[in-house]
Amino acid sequence: MKGRWRFDEVSDPLVLAAMEAVPREEFVPGNLRAAAHDDRALPIGSGQTISQPAVVAYMTGQLRLSPTSRVLEIGTGSGYQAAVLAEITRNVYSVERIAGLARTAAARLARLGYDYVQVREGDGALGWSEEAPFDAIIVTAAAAAIPPALLAQLGPDGRLILPLGEPDGPQVLVLLERNPAGEFDRRDLWPVRFVPLL
Ligand code: SAH
Repeated sequence: MKGRWRFDEVSDPLVLAAMEAVPREEFVPGNLRAAAHDDRALPIGSGQTISQPAVVAYMTGQLRLSPTSRVLEIGTGSGYQAAVLAEITRNVYSVERIAGLARTAAARLARLGYDYVQVREGDGALGWSEEAPFDAIIVTAAAAAIPPALLAQLGPDGRLILPLGEPDGPQVLVLLERNPAGEFDRRDLWPVRFVPLL
């Protein structure tokens, strides 16, 4: 058993297989490798963190991905969440604000065989309009408000999951789903703690 974690809230076999397949130890700093399979967030430099495995699995499950889904991630960080997505679909786009992290993550993903993941440096609140529409968008930093560009870039039945709240205040994981009328249904899922969207 590689990971010292259990995902009681996750039943999607694609997600469970992806969590097993991605070598998390490759995404954490060398001095933290021994903790790579603990179920907790870890620092990755530049004041950022790699999310806790249970949260990665839960958020990925809520996206209801298939192997043909087009998915956008905001906040590449270490590239770990992107790799989990990339185990499920080849159509993964990820935007990272900090240039150094974007470069390192892109190189790491390519080295591990996830060379089809597209990583771009930029402000993820603007999405990636050239590649829209997306079936799913996952934001891995906490926003004070839902970025309108992300809603605009969601296709029919599209799902957006993001932590919503102030950096030092309470945050909640929110799922928005475009319904047949083109409106968004909102569900508040879990209380969470993420680094802020910059
Ligand atoms: N998904 C990452 C964890 C990300 S931590 C992983 O699996 O490792 C949140 C990341 O969001 C940080 O890397 C941070 O630099 C980035 N970020 C913050 N604000 C952003 C913005 N406006 N656009 C894109 N990325 C942003």
